[in-house]
Amino acid sequence: MFENVKSQTSDTAKAKAVGIMSDCIFCKIISGEIPALRVYEDDNVFAFRDIAPQAPVHILIVPKEHIASVSELNPENSRLAAKCLEAAAKLAESEGLGGGYRVITNAGPDAGQTVFHLHFHLLGGKPLGASLIM
Ligand code: AMP
Ligand code: ZN
Repeated sequence: MFENVKSQTSDTAKAKAVGIMSDCIFCKIISGEIPALRVYEDDNVFAFRDIAPQAPVHILIVPKEHIASVSELNPENSRLAAKCLEAAAKLAESEGLGGGYRVITNAGPDAGQTVFHLHFHLLGGKPLGASLIM
């Protein structure tokens, strides 16, 4: 019993140290607790197919560290956003999006953000039109 409590405490401390949020669905996807169709992973970034695709290619690119949205970026963590965008460019190439693609991120309820772990939508595979708002 005591051992269990001790190990939970240590798991929580470990999660905090690596920036995992226990009630965040994307943190759970990154840790493997919730399954997802992974398409790319490196030390900083995880990418997987959106469960409700809005284009033939719809991939979500997220930093492994829990950051709620663009609004939480700062000089200490903004390199992780750049890593996500580098991954987007690599994925666009490997997914055959040479004709063009869109990378968007929603920040806050008015933008329609539903998962509060920073993510970039990589959309493509068809002409997306000129409108930024789909
Ligand atoms: P946003 O509305 O910008 O916060 O985007 C959240 C995205 O996450 C939506 O496009 C959802 O379809 C997607 N999504 C939610 N849950 C999952 C999941 N378990 N696996 C893959 N994509 C998901
Ligand atoms: Zn998270």
